[in-house]
Amino acid sequence: MDKILEVSNLEVEFQLHRKKFKVVEDISFSVNMGETLGVVGESGSGKSITMLSIMGLLPWTARVTSGSVTFKGIDLLEDENITKVRGKDITMVFQDPMSSLNPSLKIKTQLTEVLIEHEKLSFNDAYSRSLQMLNLVGMADAKSVMERYPFELSGGMRQRVMIAMAMLCKPSLLIADEPTTSLDVTIQAQILELLRGLKEKFRTSVIFISHDMRIISEIADKVIVMYAGKIMEKSDRILFFKQPLHPYSKGLLMSVPDRKAGNSKRLYTIKGDPPNPTEFSKGCRFAPRCPYASKKCFEISPPLHQVKSSFVSCWLYSHERESVR
Ligand code: SF4
Repeated sequence: MDKILEVSNLEVEFQLHRKKFKVVEDISFSVNMGETLGVVGESGSGKSITMLSIMGLLPWTARVTSGSVTFKGIDLLEDENITKVRGKDITMVFQDPMSSLNPSLKIKTQLTEVLIEHEKLSFNDAYSRSLQMLNLVGMADAKSVMERYPFELSGGMRQRVMIAMAMLCKPSLLIADEPTTSLDVTIQAQILELLRGLKEKFRTSVIFISHDMRIISEIADKVIVMYAGKIMEKSDRILFFKQPLHPYSKGLLMSVPDRKAGNSKRLYTIKGDPPNPTEFSKGCRFAPRCPYASKKCFEISPPLHQVKSSFVSCWLYSHERESVR
């Protein structure tokens, strides 16, 4: 399989009131052509910051302090390289389309300008390609939608517009950051089906960020679990859902409501809260919430160990294989 994205040892630092602190550390993963990588973890785990680093969209208070991001052999941490591919060969869809769509411009203006800018098409050609893409994403009455403003559309329609916009230039990589979180279950299912179809049609690779394990189990080929700015587990999807290794992964999976049990079964929750990035400890960051934590866990951070074909950052598995770092 052709590898199109490779992230190695990525580290991002924030500066706040002259104090510097790392928000993500030791992030390494790759994405192959046509593959979907699911990235899961609670809010504040560093999922979105990692993706914004790849896109060169970090806020001004943050910077990449080490590591590399390579896309089709190009160094994306170089400003001029990411500027060339962003919005064309790598695109992103966010949870709230209103934050990405311009409320004062009609949909036709926002869609056509992508093609005019990146593919230098005439307005008429850009218009017909945009209309085609709106039809492809299942937008009913696409012609009339082109004439509307974002506030005149429902949440599901706006998300379809965002996906159409992201797919206009047939990107090699689409980063979808919680794209279905604010939608109801029916629209959510439609959007997932749509993403699956588009991925197959254009051979686009997808990084799908979510806190929803059920969605990841449906859409991903492989999975990364992040916690407090680090990768806790990396695995193939089937293996991950059959046999999760990290206590945090197990906790996340146990927290998924069992539809069959209805309200009769009490929902499992992981005790405590994720740490604040300004207070990351030197040991395992999950230790204060982990039922298996030992003294060593609080003192020394576990490296990623390879266990069969998965990778896990937990001392419970240190005897099974040698550390990979
Ligand atoms: Fe729990 Fe220790 Fe493993 Fe961390 S290293 S997840 S505290 S057992």
